[in-house]
Amino acid sequence: MQMYDLPDRKGHFGPYGGVFVAETLIHALDELRDQYEKLRTDPAFLAEFAHELKHYVGRPSPVYHARRLSEKSGGAQIWFKREDLNHTGAHKINNTIGQALVARHMGKRRIIAETGAGQHGVASATIAARYGMECVVYMGSEDIQRQSPNVYRMKLLGATVVPVESGSKTLKDALNEAMRDWVTNVENTFYIIGTVAGPHPYPMMVRDFNSVVGKELLTQLPEVIGRQPDAILACVGGGSNAMGAFYPYIPHRDVRLIGVEAAGLGLDSGKHAATLCAGRPGVLHGNRTYLMQDENGQITETHSISAGLDYPGVGPEHAWLKDTGRAEYVAVTDDEALEAFHLTCRLEGIIPALESSHAVAYAMKLAATLPPEQVLLVNLSGRGDKDMNTVARHSGITF
Ligand SMILES: *Cc1c(COP(=O)(O)O)cnc(C)c1O
Repeated sequence: MQMYDLPDRKGHFGPYGGVFVAETLIHALDELRDQYEKLRTDPAFLAEFAHELKHYVGRPSPVYHARRLSEKSGGAQIWFKREDLNHTGAHKINNTIGQALVARHMGKRRIIAETGAGQHGVASATIAARYGMECVVYMGSEDIQRQSPNVYRMKLLGATVVPVESGSKTLKDALNEAMRDWVTNVENTFYIIGTVAGPHPYPMMVRDFNSVVGKELLTQLPEVIGRQPDAILACVGGGSNAMGAFYPYIPHRDVRLIGVEAAGLGLDSGKHAATLCAGRPGVLHGNRTYLMQDENGQITETHSISAGLDYPGVGPEHAWLKDTGRAEYVAVTDDEALEAFHLTCRLEGIIPALESSHAVAYAMKLAATLPPEQVLLVNLSGRGDKDMNTVARHSGITF
């Protein structure tokens, strides 16, 4: 097996990653990097994290053979990693608990977070309630409209939700606003970033916390199928559920790693969020990575039916995995994702998140081209309860 040991000490994955922030944050990021460097190999810290994952989140999440969906596709067998069964309904809680524990070790009692669909906001509000911390969540006012049930959940959990009115009033604007808060309140505040983006050490830290998913798979799959899978598939917004599943498999060269982006209305329409498939490298939110941008380097508007994939950047480690060819990146349209959503509901009795439905859609397409003894593992990143309104609007099924 080939060694893989990235990022370097400055947070670089080849030409990607790094630290591109205002001077006022450099000290805070250095402090965080040093603290986390110690904690990531500290047995007491890792035991504390493992305890929370087992007793509060309900890990390990099962692996499940989607038998009827596999039959429907014809060809390879499709299996799910059931992150939808986690407390709060998605993979986001894994990383949020990890960062909240780091915050506690650093003596910070106030946490802030950005959120798009609201899943990361809910996870942050949840853990703040559990640890008795103050929680402020920044959310674009457009997203507040689209995702009102999650806004209400955050408020029930005791968080303050701050509407962001700048720019397109969505996730990237919420991220900007959270960064601004952090600059002002860095003494007592910990910023919990919801995906493998941002300045070093965030992409590494979020990956490490989510890689519990891939580590579980490494032992679970030999138990149920007698070997490792032929491919692992995951949807990619910022890329945290995908990185979590991929990371422990990077040295396993015969396992294909496939990231599925949102093609929205189609890659040719310009209305999509397929950053790795159609973007170019640049700098956003503290790191260098692929971005959706025009000829002048202006960030362009993205579109996806799933708010969780609607982000114009992507984690820098994915940029590196793409350039080196270790992972493949493809894109699936809104309509294809919706079709996979309905099939998963009716054939498996599982209502998947629209984000996860993108990975299911591509798995079904790929399965049809492969022999029945091959195994495709889909990381089912979350459950679809949050998407009822969106699906009802698009499918004409009344709510
Ligand atoms: C937030 C979210 C995503 C996208 O984020 P990643 O960082 O790319 O994983 C995917 N699925 C679900 C269910 C989410 O809540």
